Amino acid sequence: MDSVKTNTAGAPDGIGEASVNVNGVVTSGDQAVVSVFDHGFLYGDGVYETLRTYNRRPFLTDRHLARLRASAARLSLEVPPTDGELESRLRDTMRGVHPHGEVVLRILVTRGVGDLGYDPAVCRTPTVVIIARPHRASPEWVDRDGVRLVVASVLRNHPRSVDPVIKSNNLLNNVLAMQEAVRDGAYEALLLNHRGELAECSQSNVFVVRDGVVLTPPLDAGLLEGVTRNLLFEVGADIGVPVRDAVLRQSDLPAVDEMFITSTTREVVPVVLVGGQVIGSGGPGRVTARLLARLRERAHALTCGAD
Ligand code: PMP
Repeated sequence: MDSVKTNTAGAPDGIGEASVNVNGVVTSGDQAVVSVFDHGFLYGDGVYETLRTYNRRPFLTDRHLARLRASAARLSLEVPPTDGELESRLRDTMRGVHPHGEVVLRILVTRGVGDLGYDPAVCRTPTVVIIARPHRASPEWVDRDGVRLVVASVLRNHPRSVDPVIKSNNLLNNVLAMQEAVRDGAYEALLLNHRGELAECSQSNVFVVRDGVVLTPPLDAGLLEGVTRNLLFEVGADIGVPVRDAVLRQSDLPAVDEMFITSTTREVVPVVLVGGQVIGSGGPGRVTARLLARLRERAHALTCGAD
């Protein structure tokens, strides 16, 4: 048994700070194990969600759970726990994380343990894992100076391949793109679709601001329907800034005033360079900053009430 229990010994920092729930049982991150016969491990056959807390409360849980179920349905994968059960597992798992500061929560649902082979019938029960770990805020320079993206040479999956709308554990497309960014010292990788249009980044959605209007690639460009992307349409309406979807190309970038990326954990991050292309004035934009401020106001307002 020891060999099972210690198989993350010597693992990188951070894992011990995590609290993990495997099928309802909570342990510390360095104790949590899943079978090597789990089809999530063998084939990436599963789906996931990443949430974060504000005021130590999970934010927009209903939207994340709805997307989890929609992703699972695309794989004909069951998510046996009810939303109420998943919410209570999120709370149980979070309790094991350092009591101060915000928490990142990842829910994974895989096909479960089964013999080798792609037939889903060999797996009896899905595996449901929740990983909770401290949220690490971005370094201060990210908001202050903005970040650089690279345009990845790898294309975003064609929607008739593994459709990017599915938030699946099969993440090699994203991993390969991000490796290009890392090699180039960039913050994120921007992926084009099979038509050469901007799709999204490896772990975030992309927006530009042109003449006071905020534009983001449409869903049929082949991208994940980000919870933060959707929230941005509402946040824009709050502050009187129009947010719309529009087909965007790399050739549009010289004419945009601002650019930013969004995700649950990173919120809104200003982009000032794409490869060698300077965006707008070369510094974080004013509309970007207003959207970020309003998003945070909304997040705090929605999470600060009494239990
Ligand atoms: N696109 C991809 C490929 C992602 O992995 C993420 C992060 N989950 C996003 C977009 C942003 O989605 P969200 O705002 O829901 O975190």
